[in-house]
Amino acid sequence: MRTVTLIEGDGIGPEISAATVRAVEAAGGKLTWERADAGAGAVAKHGDPLPQATIDSIKRNALALKGPLATPSGGGYRSVNVTLRQQFDLYANVRPAKTIAGVPSRYTNVDLVIVRENTEDLYAGVEHYVDPRRTAAESIAIITRFGSERVITYAFEYARAHGRKKVTLVHKANILKMSNGLFLDTGKEIAKKYPDIAFDDMIVDATAMKLVTQPERFDVIVTMNLFGDILSDLTAGLIGGLGVAPASNIGNDNYAMFEAVHGTAPDIAGKGIANPTALMLSAAMLLDHVDQRDAGDRLRKGVYAALGNAETRTGDLGGKANTQAFTDAVIRNL
Ligand code: NAD
Repeated sequence: MRTVTLIEGDGIGPEISAATVRAVEAAGGKLTWERADAGAGAVAKHGDPLPQATIDSIKRNALALKGPLATPSGGGYRSVNVTLRQQFDLYANVRPAKTIAGVPSRYTNVDLVIVRENTEDLYAGVEHYVDPRRTAAESIAIITRFGSERVITYAFEYARAHGRKKVTLVHKANILKMSNGLFLDTGKEIAKKYPDIAFDDMIVDATAMKLVTQPERFDVIVTMNLFGDILSDLTAGLIGGLGVAPASNIGNDNYAMFEAVHGTAPDIAGKGIANPTALMLSAAMLLDHVDQRDAGDRLRKGVYAALGNAETRTGDLGGKANTQAFTDAVIRNL
């Protein structure tokens, strides 16, 4: 039995969390849930978007499942997602993209995973105006050997643990010879330790084209923060959009946080019609992570079967089922 901090989140978060908890339990997942607040709901309840009790709970369990959190644009509090990433040094963002029968998309043969470095690069936050009149600004991309080593090693370990055959390192080292060169050289060194996994590298622009012309050529992609940010949304688009995309965030000391990629869907919140697929698939990744693979596989099987049947698909995918009917179908198909 593993204890998981469950942050239900805002908007549709409580609805898709309740559905996911039901499905995980039916799939035989041996998890106990410790509920914790974050986001707009936590501001209303505790006056704080990320209460200390929530941080303590994640520290204790080193494992969290998180629904979407509302982030105010412009002013207001800082993104809780960013704070959590920094607090737990969640350096690897893992985004699988797999074609799902029944989910409308342009491709039928995508099955890849992007491992994105999540703490460095242009997003390290080193930015300034060059002149007092603010006519020019500079942002600095920081790439370190330490940061590169840990994320590339994670990508290889993930490939090995999930029976994947190849890691492709994506970069722009032909132009950014030092920063991206360091990432590429580090990858080449680490690849030598994994003779069972094929390794190649590709320039990011060529990767963007190949992803849309031949997505089946990719297996695991490891890349830096900015390229990973863009390419992981691109690959979500290959399989039908963010609504069905799961993710994990892996940090030091084995911290791991699993989350749906979509937002709080305020337009449909409280109506009982949200699609819980992305959070359920994130929970399946969590089950894999804690070595409850059978339960993870069962949950994925149930979700894919429910999506494969037009009768049990939710409205966002052109179906008529509500959250409960979809979840019932997942559980029938486990
Ligand atoms: P959104 O993903 O919430 O919604 C975009 C559209 O997709 C809406 O029409 C919505 O109804 C639909 N949709 C999204 N998820 C769905 C689901 N599971 N089932 C059915 N339909 C679904 O994006 P947005 O409107 O740009 O953002 C709303 C809020 O969510 C903002 O406050 C934003 O900051 C936040 N957000 C949070 C996260 C996160 O916590 N990971 C990610 C993205 C956005």
